[in-house]
Amino acid sequence: MDCILCKIAAGEIKSEIIYQDQDIFVIKDINPQAPTHLLILPVEHYANLGEVADKAPELLTALFAKGADLGRQIAGERGFRVVINTGPDGGQTVDHLHLHLLAGRELQWPPG
Ligand code: AMP
Ligand code: ZN
Repeated sequence: MDCILCKIAAGEIKSEIIYQDQDIFVIKDINPQAPTHLLILPVEHYANLGEVADKAPELLTALFAKGADLGRQIAGERGFRVVINTGPDGGQTVDHLHLHLLAGRELQWPPG
């Protein structure tokens, strides 16, 4: 499958891997939108939030728990944002489900 995140998971494309276990991994976003910008994603390919909710909802717990862990570790009391872009209107550009973890600056709301 021609998926950049699957290729990173398989070690075919280099990336800065922050965390990895058998189910999920965390990398640095290549085009960071905040001082900390990480992507938290399943090793297995799911195109989007709907597909993982249908086929492997337990992965969502692991992904969000990792987001909470890292967010607290990195940002402490300052806080952080975890977001999943879904589909064209949601701003999704890579069709392998991933959570963005953003921290290190005051983020705007609404996001635009
Ligand atoms: P989204 O637009 O929500 O689908 O997010 C896709 C994210 O993947 C963007 O923030 C990109 O900067 C990021 N990205 C694309 N290619 C790579 C890569 N090779 N390594 C790390 N992050 C990437
Ligand atoms: Zn993939």
